[in-house]
Amino acid sequence: MYKEFLPVTENTPSLTLAEGNTPLILSEYLSHLANATVYLKYEGANPTGSFKDRGMVLAVAKAKELGARVVVCASTGNTSASAAAYAARAGMRAVVLIPDGYVALGKLAQAMVYGADIIAIRGNFDDALQRVRDIAEPAGMTIVNSINPYRLDGQQSAAFEICDALGSAPDQLYIPVGNAGNISAYWKGFRAYLKAGRISSVPQMCGFQAAGAAALVHGQPVSHPETFATAIRIGKPASGTLALEAARESHGGIWAVTDDDIREAYRTIAREGIFAEPGSAASVAGFLQRVRSGAVDKGSTVVCVLTGNGLKDPDTAMSIQPSPARVVDNSQQAVLDAIGGSL
Ligand SMILES: *Cc1c(COP(=O)(O)O)cnc(C)c1O
Repeated sequence: MYKEFLPVTENTPSLTLAEGNTPLILSEYLSHLANATVYLKYEGANPTGSFKDRGMVLAVAKAKELGARVVVCASTGNTSASAAAYAARAGMRAVVLIPDGYVALGKLAQAMVYGADIIAIRGNFDDALQRVRDIAEPAGMTIVNSINPYRLDGQQSAAFEICDALGSAPDQLYIPVGNAGNISAYWKGFRAYLKAGRISSVPQMCGFQAAGAAALVHGQPVSHPETFATAIRIGKPASGTLALEAARESHGGIWAVTDDDIREAYRTIAREGIFAEPGSAASVAGFLQRVRSGAVDKGSTVVCVLTGNGLKDPDTAMSIQPSPARVVDNSQQAVLDAIGGSL
């Protein structure tokens, strides 16, 4: 659909799982809170449940075009799910390196079902990415992490969709920052749209890292990143320089949100019927933080990116409410008693 903005040629194999075109949902609660118009870009509606599909489709298609047979990535989970799906679709093999013990259950299940070779290393995401960089070339495999430029190219489409849906760019974009590819891709997309005359202004880019993994906020790598939001549990963001440029050029910034902030945001959007994974909720946590500090102008248009689907991480969902179901006898009275009597 956005082919003119993408490096696709007649030699690029056609590959798609109908990614993109995700909902832009008005949040009445957040709009009311901030006296602004606040939308949630729900990337959990992509084929494998995260925005990674937007760039992965292009990275895998280009790998195939260039004759590769195996793609490889390091992943906190969603990149591996996406790489596995698109490799399967393209008739290629996917090898994924994950940090042992730190990938949400749904993501692991996806990589497994799509038939990837899954290798769990005793180390974190940054270690896994270093191993991928070491082995890819000698082993003749194409890296499909966001250091592959086609990933960022493809991920621009989310920025295009937002501008097309609103008829202009939002005033501010709130986005989680992990390896920092996505914020860089959005910024690239907004600038490309500006250059093409499709929009007349670009948004302030507001990125949010987890406080225990806030390398860009502190200006130095974090050797032992920690957060329950495993998608952004990254201590050495590969696209950090691009992300800081996006923040600076757009007069935005990159800030930290605590795990408690993220948990609060996770629950807040769920109460409006929207289920996103913890890493995604960092954007809304950041938005709430900036509303409190008065940094969101009244009447402005805001988009918070919800990067992945809440169903991917059922363990976190269940841990927030330890005992979701009350078990009762199979009788009318017992059920009525349990719900407090009256109908
Ligand atoms: C990958 C991912 C992120 C982080 O995106 P980066 O491009 O690495 O900054 C955030 N949330 C989810 C759900 C992700 O899958």
